[in-house]
Amino acid sequence: MASKKAIAPRDRTIGVLDLQGGVFEHLEHLRRLGIEGRSVKAAQDFEGLSGLILPGGESTCLSRLLRIFGLDAVIMQHFREGLKLWGTCAGAILLARTLTGEAPHLGLIDIEVERNSFGSQLDSFTGEALVPKVSAEPIPLTYIRAPKILKVGQGVEVLLRMEDFIAAAESPDVLVTVFHPELTGSLAFHRYFARKCGIEHRVTEWSEIPWEITSWTRFAKTR
Ligand code: GLN
Repeated sequence: MASKKAIAPRDRTIGVLDLQGGVFEHLEHLRRLGIEGRSVKAAQDFEGLSGLILPGGESTCLSRLLRIFGLDAVIMQHFREGLKLWGTCAGAILLARTLTGEAPHLGLIDIEVERNSFGSQLDSFTGEALVPKVSAEPIPLTYIRAPKILKVGQGVEVLLRMEDFIAAAESPDVLVTVFHPELTGSLAFHRYFARKCGIEHRVTEWSEIPWEITSWTRFAKTR
């Protein structure tokens, strides 16, 4: 008879999948919250993680790298054992159960996502919205060749609904955002995900340093 695998104790660390895409920016936000962050490239890097962020980047590329390194199966295994997941943009595409017109990847949250739904990279834009469950303050939103969440299934709660798409949603174990909180000064979504992982943030010397990253978002058009 197969023995049941003991559930590994989880420490208070959040990993960021480090195969391609915006890794550093997530680690920097975690550091500002006084939360232990770790770059995750190989199976052993998952040991003891409470949560894993799948960053934005390019989902076809990310999905191929996941398969080549066998990390898709590792994510599934740790997810079954209690690992919480947050996908930003391409990460959300990887986590979706349904992708319009193409086969899904990990399929760990019951949402339907349409890739590149606003157009090309040049159709990237920024905005701002109130997401009451996440913060009392309006949250800046940066969309980069973003997908749209078209619908959510049972057990998935919409956190932010825009005119004709859903921008953020969650199930008890998975958070998805089609925008990039790590490319803004806001820590609200990182704090929210940390709580979902059972981790409280603390103030450190990093918390006080102003967020002054000058980036292409200054030049992006706002819709
Ligand atoms: N357009 C990308 C894709 O389809 C996602 C872009 C992003 O992560 N900013 O994977």
